[in-house]
Amino acid sequence: MPLIEPIETAQAADPHDLARFRIEVREFLSNQLPDDIRAATRDGVPLGKPQSLRWHAILHKRGWLVPHWPVDAGGRGWDAMQRMVFDEEMCTHGAPELNSIMFDMIGPVLIRFGNAAQKAAFLPRIASGTQWWCQGYSEPNAGSDLAALSTRAVRRDNHYLVNGSKIWTSYAHHADWIFCLVRTDVEAKAQDGISFLLIDMKTPGITLRPIRGIHGWEGFNQVFFDDVEVPADNLVGTENRGWAVAKSLLEFERLKLARVGENKRRMERVRQLGWSETEMGVPLMHRPWFRKRFAELQMRLMALEANALRFVERAQRGEPIGAEVSMLKLRGSQLMQLWEALNVDALGPASLPFDAAAIVGKPHRLPVSAMSATALPRRFLSRGFTIAGGSSEVQRNILAKQVLGL
Ligand SMILES: Cc1cc2nc3c(=O)[nH]c(=O)nc-3n(C[C@H](O)[C@H](O)[C@H](O)COP(=O)(O)OP(=O)(O)OC[C@H]3O[C@@H](n4cnc5c(N)ncnc54)[C@H](O)[C@@H]3O)c2cc1C
Repeated sequence: MPLIEPIETAQAADPHDLARFRIEVREFLSNQLPDDIRAATRDGVPLGKPQSLRWHAILHKRGWLVPHWPVDAGGRGWDAMQRMVFDEEMCTHGAPELNSIMFDMIGPVLIRFGNAAQKAAFLPRIASGTQWWCQGYSEPNAGSDLAALSTRAVRRDNHYLVNGSKIWTSYAHHADWIFCLVRTDVEAKAQDGISFLLIDMKTPGITLRPIRGIHGWEGFNQVFFDDVEVPADNLVGTENRGWAVAKSLLEFERLKLARVGENKRRMERVRQLGWSETEMGVPLMHRPWFRKRFAELQMRLMALEANALRFVERAQRGEPIGAEVSMLKLRGSQLMQLWEALNVDALGPASLPFDAAAIVGKPHRLPVSAMSATALPRRFLSRGFTIAGGSSEVQRNILAKQVLGL
């Protein structure tokens, strides 16, 4: 029995349409989501590239890989509410999270700022999920202060010569292309000398150094550029005006930053543990410490969702979203960590990923399921949610300065 009745999101102008749409998404997932992908997602195991590409192809065939893109760019022109409902159904019915860098970042950037040749060359491949992209923004000395970036691009005839390095580049080892912020004018004020370049990862002079995170999974890389020749045609927008492109890319993502669906996915995982795990023979859901924490997080999630809906409604009315949307990122990312922490506490020692048999030569006495084996890696992975896309401190600065006027 749930502590609090599950939250129904749909408060749209025509809730019947959305209710029908929810059922359609659930039926699609129950018929089309491959078992191996469903199992990996349930257990919190990262998908391999072939699995991701297979899932992209299934969604593309249904027309649901980039439904939020405009129709003439290969999307369906869904509004913010329909998209929120879709994301929620995908998360709560076993579908993996999609790669935001491809579908929410570089795609929309090219739709808005790309020239005709760039749109023709890249959008169909991104929209079908066949071309993998990574994001080259952060550098060893430029993270929160992104405008301090120093990767240099010097114009030579019909190409740029790029030198420098990018860091924390997620899934660069899978990527066919990288979009990069590069410095094209060292004399100008920091933000005025930056350009936005598209770079083929197979170009000579690019090398990768994998960085293994505390979670143990491979995902991060440092990307080095040594005299990399990039055709000048790969410049997006105007030279030295890349900052505007970079900033707009963050805007496209803003409503997703609450991660309501992803938080619900985690809530359901923890709810299941609450019933399957026992303490002194009693399901955790009946133990006061667990019940209290679960209820607190569930209420936080309801508050987050109510707030997210306020912004979605604003977007539906065509009103500006404003800087206060930073509160969604702040609260949504913190909540993801709190669910993962409760997940680990619910499993207790079974979440420790060491093989006792290997150390003391005795059989491991703890029951280890796929879910418990990934509990700690997921807990550590969630640490990144309050850093990536603007750290919590940066979000608080935005709220303090731009919303509260402090
Ligand atoms: C999971 C994950 C995936 C990522 N993927 C990518 C990717 O694909 N591509 C990419 O380009 N980057 C990626 N990043 C990098 C990410 O954008 C940076 O980590 C982030 O911008 C913070 O920069 P930094 O790590 O250099 O930390 P810093 O900016 O050095 O910050 C260090 C600490 O100081 C605090 N701080 C900084 N400035 C201020 C301030 N003005 N006031 C108060 N406190 C401040 C920060 O909050 C933080 O606690 C990823 C990061 C993570 C965690």
